[in-house]
Order: sequence, then structure tokens, then C-alpha cells
Amino acid sequence: MFTPQNLDEIRSLLCKENKVVIVTHYNPDGDAIGSSLGLKHILRNYGVEADVVVPNDFPKFLKWMPEAKKITIADYKRKKAREILQSADVLFILDFNSPQRSGDLMAPWITNSNSIKILIDHHQMPDAFDYVYSDTTQPATCQMIYNFADALGAKEHIDLQAAQCLYCGIMTDTGGFRFRSTSAQTHRVVADLIEKGAEPSMIASSTWDTNTLSRFKLLGLILGRMELAADGQVAILTLTRDELRTYGFEKGDTEGFVNYGLSIQGVKMAAFFMEDLYEDFIKISFRSKDDLDVNQFSRKHFNGGGHINAAGGKYYKTLESTVADFQRIIEDEPSLQASDSD
Ligand code: 5GP
Ligand code: MN
Repeated sequence: MFTPQNLDEIRSLLCKENKVVIVTHYNPDGDAIGSSLGLKHILRNYGVEADVVVPNDFPKFLKWMPEAKKITIADYKRKKAREILQSADVLFILDFNSPQRSGDLMAPWITNSNSIKILIDHHQMPDAFDYVYSDTTQPATCQMIYNFADALGAKEHIDLQAAQCLYCGIMTDTGGFRFRSTSAQTHRVVADLIEKGAEPSMIASSTWDTNTLSRFKLLGLILGRMELAADGQVAILTLTRDELRTYGFEKGDTEGFVNYGLSIQGVKMAAFFMEDLYEDFIKISFRSKDDLDVNQFSRKHFNGGGHINAAGGKYYKTLESTVADFQRIIEDEPSLQASDSD
């Protein structure tokens, strides 16, 4: 958490005279949108209006969140987004660790902004900002927004709308309260959010019971040709641009696919390689179990990063060459040597 002195300074920054703007990472997920909107609702009750700006569009299944439709999407409204960022006196940077994670369009606006920058994030290795609350043991930035409101003495400002947004981000970033970072504190926070009105069944169903036929067809396709490597310890999933087009891919359609690989008995790491729809690179999602650190792995080999058990990366080769390089790299991966299974 911020130091008491930092909290005092932040408190004095949060006033009507200051323009407050909230930004999050490229391809915003449930935690990114949930923390941004959650903080916006809390700040409003605190007496401060904030604008949320995101680099690009986010999945339809997150648009039920209160005021999701008021978010400015820089990809669609460049001028407006740039003006909002230029006018910021205080900039909250949520759920990412470095301006470059907000994409090529928005990163320079953040870097060049004269605003006071406040980072709240749970990714590894945050850049330096004016105020930093970084904690990689937290399962979701939404849980950190709750802690921040608590530390500010503003917990009573978490209203129904804020509670719904924060609940959603915690639910999605913990994979439904099951990832390793899910703690007793997570459940205490979530219990409080439920008491403030967040309805678990409504939120889970609005977010997750949103499958489309095209998504299931895509899933069937990639599960049908999933492969195991490294003595059954690594699952490899692939998807081509042509396949994405054939099935009328929409943002969010492939969310969670990589987890099917990780759910296979004996698998310690799953890697999902997907051709980008427009540009010539491969977007990779890594998931792992226990101490196998895919954040380090992706940083070292695939121009990426993230968390210990969930990371992403980008690779500028064809799909075949990327998978071939990956297979060579995992041969030398110490944590995948000598399987201890019987
Ligand atoms: P996903 O596989 O769901 O896209 O991402 C998993 C995690 O890794 C997320 O926390 C995300 O922020 C992070 N991540 C995904 N892609 C990248 C990347 O290219 N660079 C870095 N540094 N982190 C990434
Ligand atoms: Mn997150």
C-alpha cells in the first residue's frame, strides 16, 4: 500500500480542481475494466469525477458493467482520447506496469503527460511513477482498488456500481476464485462486495454465459489438434488468421482457451499461439502451474511478461516457426527437465 504520507498527498490531489483520468492496458480484460470503472464510481462518491480512457475496444461480455459504455476508446476516438489525457492533472495507471503496455497510440501520451501519475497494479517489475502501489501477491488490481479505498478511509464510497465492477475483476483474474493468488483476504473483500449488493450469479452469468456458436466452433477446432510436448508437461494450442476469419472472430472469443491445455493432468505449462488478425506477428498466451515462471520465460524468449502463472508475449515469425522455436526452447527449460511422475 502507499505510505501514509503518500496517501495524504493523494488525498489532497483528489479534489474538484484537478482533472482525474484513469487508463489501463491494451486489450483490456475484466480486471482492467473492473478496476477502472470501480475506481471511477468510488471517486465520484468521494466528490471527484474521473474519465476512463482505454487503448482499444474490449469484449462485449464486459459491457454490462455500469458505465462501460461511457469509456473513451482511443482506437475509435483518437482526438477525444488524446485531449482527455492532455488535460489530466492526475493520472491513475491501473492493471499495467509500463506505458508501452498501453499500445503504440497511447503510450507516448502517457509518457509525455505532465500529470501526477499514480500506479496501482499487480504485474511484475513496474516502471517508476510519482506514486506506486505495486503488489504481485494480489490476485487482481480490483482487490487493490478495494484496499486503496480502505486505506483512503473511503470504503463507504464503494457503492453497488463499484462493488459490481470490482467483483467482476476479482472473479475473472482469479479464474473464478481458483488461481493460486486467491486468498482469505480475497474472499473477505468479495464478501464485503456482496454485502454492498454485488450479485455473484448475475455477474458470473453476465460475464461468462455469453458463449457464441462461433466461439465453440473455434474451441472445438483448436482442442481437436492440441498437442503435448516435453513428456506431456507442455500443451500447445494454435490458431491461424484464416480460421479466425472463417469463424467470424470477435474480440474475447479466444479468452480462456489456453486454460484447457493447463487443465490436462500432468501439464505444467500451456502455450496458445494465435496469428494476429491484421499484423504479422504471433500473439502468445502462457499459463503455468506452481513455481514454473512464465513471466520470466516470456520476458526472456517471447518479448512479453505478465505474472508467474499467466503471461503473454509476441513473436515476429510465422506460426510454424514460432511453435518450432518454442519447442526448441522448452527442451532447455530447467523446470521441464526430468519429469518426476512415476
Ligand atoms: P493473456 O494471455 O491473457 O493475454 O495475458 C496474461 C497476462 O500476461 C496478463 O496479465 C497480461 O497483462 C500479460 N501480458 C499479455 N501479453 C503481454 C505482453 O505482450 N507483454 C507483457 N509484458 N505482458 C503481457
Ligand atoms: Mn489484472
